[in-house]
Amino acid sequence: MSAPMQQPAQWRGVLAAVAKGIEGFFFRHRRRIVLVHGAMFVAFVGLLAVPLFFGPPPEHAGPLDHVATFANYVIWGLWFPLVFLSVIATGRSWCGLLCPMGAAAEWTNRVGLQRPIPAWLQWPGTPVVSFVIVTIWGQTLGVRDHALALAILFGTVMAAALVIGFLYGRRKRAWCRHACPIGLMLGVYGRLGAVDFSPKRPQPGAVTWTEKTVCPTMIDLDRKVECRHCIECFRCVSPKAPGGLTLRFRRPGAEIEAIAEHHANLAEVLFLFTGTGAALGGFLWLVLDSYQRLRQAVGDWAIDHEWYWLGEPGPVWLMAVYPDQREVFRWLDFFLIGGYMLGWLVLITAVLSATTLAAAWLAGRVGGVGTLSRRFVELGYQYAPVAMVSLLVGLAGGLFRNLHYLGLDDGGIALVKAALFAAGALWSLYLGWRLLAAQGIPGRWRWLPLLPGATGSLAVGAAWYPAIF
Ligand code: SF4
Ligand code: SF4
Repeated sequence: MSAPMQQPAQWRGVLAAVAKGIEGFFFRHRRRIVLVHGAMFVAFVGLLAVPLFFGPPPEHAGPLDHVATFANYVIWGLWFPLVFLSVIATGRSWCGLLCPMGAAAEWTNRVGLQRPIPAWLQWPGTPVVSFVIVTIWGQTLGVRDHALALAILFGTVMAAALVIGFLYGRRKRAWCRHACPIGLMLGVYGRLGAVDFSPKRPQPGAVTWTEKTVCPTMIDLDRKVECRHCIECFRCVSPKAPGGLTLRFRRPGAEIEAIAEHHANLAEVLFLFTGTGAALGGFLWLVLDSYQRLRQAVGDWAIDHEWYWLGEPGPVWLMAVYPDQREVFRWLDFFLIGGYMLGWLVLITAVLSATTLAAAWLAGRVGGVGTLSRRFVELGYQYAPVAMVSLLVGLAGGLFRNLHYLGLDDGGIALVKAALFAAGALWSLYLGWRLLAAQGIPGRWRWLPLLPGATGSLAVGAAWYPAIF
């Protein structure tokens, strides 16, 4: 046959060989991963603690001018964006291979109380709540600008991981599976990614959660159908054994296109919506006049009613109080920033829920299978790319500032962000199309339930417009 017909098969062969090579490498060296974790732990604690001994940096200091700006650059300019983007190419490799917090939680678990994991921790909404709290708290602390804020936030997250690890589970990572806000983000967007560990001998039956497994995140290995909770620790991999799991590469987006077969669930969909809203709110309060007008109006009201305490600064573990750096938040700022972000969270969640509900209802009218709620949950995943770009733009500003070093000015960087949005929206549209196809809707009718989905992506893009330009 002609070369173009053979090419996909050849590529599949190459990818399978690469996957085998990676699998073999980590199988041979998996006991040494602990050394990597130890080194990462020292580096992580150093990045958080060392800047605290050097005082604030000069106003326009660059990454190499002061230890605090260096640590800030490593965390917001390199670590966060690279880890976030890496999920598309390598899934949650950060979690299993590098993350010092998850590894530390597992160490404390070995010497801890090993109590049964309580129901409140297993509740699917727990990591969503933890994500929202950490995102808002990060804003009020001024975590993007102050070394002490960075140490307070990440130090607390680390402490929470150690305590949960110490208390719950038996040789498991209860924190990573059930509560980590970073793990939630990487796991949900990892579903778009190109890496999966799948059972060599898959068993039928519903996805189950079990503590009787070698998997630290409690995956029932033979029934594994989703990559969300897989931290890529390679403990279930044994290349020569007939059972266990095997690493394979797949087309990015493939898991979400067939989400009905991969444990679609409402908690993840709500995270896609609320995460987009929180990221938007976290950015817009800095740039929109509406926030300043609101602050003025509430401040005037507080003075009229003699609520003077709202004008007092709060504790530094709750909000930014750095008079030397001319940034002092007051209780008024604390409540307004939190309220403003929650307002955007509710608004975006309402808009995307409405468009998804309209899409699910219309899908049913043109032959879509399943119940309305089932179609709603499945179609909610079409927003994964748009939501991912939102988090990237909202929480990874350092990545874009790096583009200055490549010679791009602010206008050029805005265009890069806009192009990312356009790509995310197109990918979302494509996912919507494929999800509707999987629901059995004929091609000639798919445009109809696709319209509300596209409207939702456009609404998110319109909300980001003032932040980008
Ligand atoms: S889930 Fe969180 S703590 Fe656990 S390995 Fe991943 S990022 Fe680290
Ligand atoms: S499925 Fe395998 S690689 Fe993934 S977390 Fe569990 S044991 Fe580790």
